[in-house]
Amino acid sequence: MSTVRTAVRVEGVVQGVGFRPFVYALATGLGLTGLVGNDLDGVFAEVEGPAAAVSEFLRRLERDAPPLARIERVSTRAITPVSSPEFVIAASEAQTGLRRTLVSADTATCADCLRELADPADRRHEYPFINCTNCGPRFTIVRDVPYDRPLTTMAPFAMCERCAAEYHDPADRRFHAQPTCCPACGPRLALDDGSEDPLHAAAELLRHGRILAVKGLGGYHLAADAACEQAVATLRQRKHREDKPFAVMAADLAAAADLAEVDAAAAALLTSPARPIVLLPRRPGAAVAHATAPANRQLGIMLPYTPLHHLLLAALARPMVLTSGNVSDEPIVYRDGEARDTLKGIADAFLTHDRAIHVRTDDSVARSFRGRPMLLRRSRGYVPGPLAVPTGFPRPLLACGAELKNTFCLARGGHAFVSQHIGDLENAETLRSFTEGIEHFRRLFDIDPEVVAHDLHPEYLSTKYALELDLPAEGVQHHHAHIASCLADNGEQGPVIGVAFDGTGYGTDGTIWGGEFLAAGLTAFERGGHLAPVPMPGGAAAIRQPWRMAAAYTGDAEVARRHQDHWSAVIAMAAKGINSPLTSSAGRLFDAAAALLGVRDAINYEGQAAVELEQLADPGEAGEYPAAVEAGEGPFQARGADLLYAVIEDRTGRVPAPVIAARFHHGVAALIENGCLLLRATVTRLEARGFRVLVHSRVPCNDGGISLGQAVVAATRS
Ligand SMILES: [Zn+2]
Ligand SMILES: [Zn+2]
Repeated sequence: MSTVRTAVRVEGVVQGVGFRPFVYALATGLGLTGLVGNDLDGVFAEVEGPAAAVSEFLRRLERDAPPLARIERVSTRAITPVSSPEFVIAASEAQTGLRRTLVSADTATCADCLRELADPADRRHEYPFINCTNCGPRFTIVRDVPYDRPLTTMAPFAMCERCAAEYHDPADRRFHAQPTCCPACGPRLALDDGSEDPLHAAAELLRHGRILAVKGLGGYHLAADAACEQAVATLRQRKHREDKPFAVMAADLAAAADLAEVDAAAAALLTSPARPIVLLPRRPGAAVAHATAPANRQLGIMLPYTPLHHLLLAALARPMVLTSGNVSDEPIVYRDGEARDTLKGIADAFLTHDRAIHVRTDDSVARSFRGRPMLLRRSRGYVPGPLAVPTGFPRPLLACGAELKNTFCLARGGHAFVSQHIGDLENAETLRSFTEGIEHFRRLFDIDPEVVAHDLHPEYLSTKYALELDLPAEGVQHHHAHIASCLADNGEQGPVIGVAFDGTGYGTDGTIWGGEFLAAGLTAFERGGHLAPVPMPGGAAAIRQPWRMAAAYTGDAEVARRHQDHWSAVIAMAAKGINSPLTSSAGRLFDAAAALLGVRDAINYEGQAAVELEQLADPGEAGEYPAAVEAGEGPFQARGADLLYAVIEDRTGRVPAPVIAARFHHGVAALIENGCLLLRATVTRLEARGFRVLVHSRVPCNDGGISLGQAVVAATRS
């Protein structure tokens, strides 16, 4: 049988994920000789042996790749056999030039590590920082590339002999696992009372209704016994968080299923290596304190993703509330000193350790939608995973994102790197995350932007940042960016009828858009239709107080009775257009409906009125309210007010509020359908028969996805 030698190149996320030991084991198992190594482009290998064995090697290379590897391309070429005597791992060359290899995301503790964690005979038994090439911290500890221990926050921990032996053994699961460690040489857990057994002492505190600050992977969390009414209520009060739901961490799928309905898609999300918080329908009578998620039919649940979480939950033996360590809307704290200062008034004790967190990274949030994952916040576990964008980025670029739920995006070649959730760019701390994050990503992925994309809103801090850079700038309208983001998420280019219903986005005419039907491609769009504009009496005050929108839309007498003191002033303001910008926002339409039904007259967090209106809606009700769509010259206008008058009429007729809420939602859906039908006639290039509906999946449909949309729009223009 003939001997062949094949050179193989593997590109994608293939470094720091155990790829070389995998190749080593695969090649030696098949009796092949040759070599494998890392370089700037990824992994290279040469394999030599019988042709059949080499083919088998190539087949298994992709099929059996390590769990964290993301192979984007494998290329092979035949070379002359050299009769190499064995298979070796080649030394890494000095790394200069363009970096094309990719840093992986933080990953939940793997099954092998969990086995060792539970094994009394293992030297890492109950060690809260156990990890291996297949799991553990990555993005949150990386200070620079190449991804090597000295450039991570594990640098101060010198490996003991046994860890070093594993690290250098190509046959070991910890071969070149940069954060590897053990109780003899790695980070240590500490409780601030100096307890000998910090873990069990911490669990004991939780069991007694105390609140614990816990240092996690991307920041500090606040933990409390999820079933303890007093503990969760105290946490809410100390955190100054009035209504926004807290997430719950449950030990495993079975424990999650005790609290909420978990279908197959949700189970896959819960147990995925990214371990997001998954929004699930709450079970009636779930053993969770009322204060966890007041007035909410859903519960955000996640499973443990660090060894510390596994150990803490095992010691506590019941679910715990685990929410970001911060005060009200500030970003999650991640440095030890600031955690002490910020959280000392909230937490009764601190469970910490001495491994630094380099990048602040919140938990991701997801839900399943028709059996497909839908990310609502793309952060820990996903970032900095590249998003492949088929249309590509001929010039390297930076997109600065929106103002709320900000993310930014750096892009080059076929890849977009969307940042972790940065947050609302309204305080200095978040702005620092934004500017430092951009610098960090630039270094990490070696992208030097030649173009910058930004929102049209002149007052967004992300816009101001973009315009201060000395780069050609591309302004991208907010809702166009939403639709382009959806296109990129689905690998499409359009043209499409894009429907963007949200709270606020700056329009090309200087008014506030937010109930938009756009005929859009990546490069450009036409505003095909929108909700009929209404005044927002008091501007931002109308966002905080939904009753003002009910006043502006309908002048409803019942809402007037509840707000007699300000009523005439607000009505006059709206009528005269004083401090009352016009808006076509869908968010404000939902606000008005919520106020009409007495659901909410004032909000404590963004989108609260709409969220609670949705929670109220009776799932068994099929009726819908009609709304006229008026076509004329220019964009058509959909009369949202029609829906609100129908709400008032049913309310007067004493129809139950959950039925009205359902009919309102279906009315909005019908309005969207009618708008699309109307627009289809004007968009001749659209497919003649039927629609294909594209929705977001990999990036959030909210403002967290804006940066990707800006990036793809700017790329097609430049
Ligand atoms: Zn592991
Ligand atoms: Zn060690």
